[in-house]
Amino acid sequence: MPDKPTQKAMECRRCGTCCTMHQAFVTEEDTRRIINYLGITMDNWKALYDDPHWWFIQYRLIRHIDGACAFLGWDGGLATCKIHEVKPACCSRWQAGPNKTECKKGMAKLK
Ligand code: SF4
Ligand code: SF4
Repeated sequence: MPDKPTQKAMECRRCGTCCTMHQAFVTEEDTRRIINYLGITMDNWKALYDDPHWWFIQYRLIRHIDGACAFLGWDGGLATCKIHEVKPACCSRWQAGPNKTECKKGMAKLK
């Protein structure tokens, strides 16, 4: 039986839509890595970046501020992740794709 066609790849256009439509989840390991990078304490993390409305303890969500991930920045109109080097594993795994709702929405905005 032939393999199923794989989702087509696409270069990320840095529209930032995925970082506004979703909240990134962080494991304990992600959180430790990010707070070390930022040089802040766990209490700082909770006060500034942890979403206090999320009830699940085993993994947490990064807070949204003004409708987007607290770490979303902009550089000449292009989205940038302020913690790119240490971003959560779920964000590292995320791939842009021409059939993804997020990318399609972003491309429509860029047109
Ligand atoms: S951590 Fe970075 S890549 Fe992940 S959602 Fe936030 S801004 Fe986007
Ligand atoms: S929505 Fe797609 S194109 Fe836009 S930043 Fe995210 S992955 Fe890149």
